[in-house]
Amino acid sequence: MGNVKQILAMMKDYATTHRVPIISLEGGQLLQSVAAAAQPAAVLEIGTAIGYSTLLLATAMMPGGQITTIEQDDDRIAVAKQFLAEAGVLNQTDIIAGDAGVVIPRLTGTYDLVFIDAAKGQYLDYLEKVLDKLSPEAVIIADNVLFRGWVLDETAAPKRFRTIVKRLKSYLDFVTNDLRFETTVHHIGDGMAVSFYRERRSNEKTGTFSPCRQFRET
Ligand code: SAH
Ligand code: MG
Repeated sequence: MGNVKQILAMMKDYATTHRVPIISLEGGQLLQSVAAAAQPAAVLEIGTAIGYSTLLLATAMMPGGQITTIEQDDDRIAVAKQFLAEAGVLNQTDIIAGDAGVVIPRLTGTYDLVFIDAAKGQYLDYLEKVLDKLSPEAVIIADNVLFRGWVLDETAAPKRFRTIVKRLKSYLDFVTNDLRFETTVHHIGDGMAVSFYRERRSNEKTGTFSPCRQFRET
């Protein structure tokens, strides 16, 4: 791996100059600590931008793990590729160009960690499309879920942002109320939701026996 710290600093400078919205410092630290604890072998990132959070994930995840990351802006993809190559992690990264809403249903992999950080109005759509691609103990992290605090106080949001605010609320409602998810919303950066997925939890209320992965696969 190249000098990761130095490359992250260069990416940050680039993001500032070119107004690319990368994850906050604290948000990045949370992302890395969740990834370091979960040790995912396969990560799906929705919203690559210039690869800043991709590099954070690559350095925190399981050695040899793979990241699939989706971005619709070709110029940003080109920049991301340069930085990730320089950092020596491009070989473990698969950057897919296109609209995540179209790309996700076509993915054939299973993911241990999903980082949602693209169109804020589409988070629930992304999650619904990724549900059948989650490993039994996956973790979903979503950035910007409090959207400048407006998700907590909708009346403060300018009219043109209210639809996005409503949709972010629907995302949070879903991961908070659906029994398969155990969610914590962290009030750091622009708000980050960390949701632990447990396939079997959907059945716990009815007492239906649903074997966990080890039993099923052996
Ligand atoms: N995760 C990055 C920042 C991503 S910014 C980081 O923290 O470093 C959000 C990115 O999502 C932008 O680059 C934008 O082009 C991309 N995006 C927005 N809507 C998208 C969509 N529907 N499909 C794919 N990419 C999308
Ligand atoms: Mg973000």
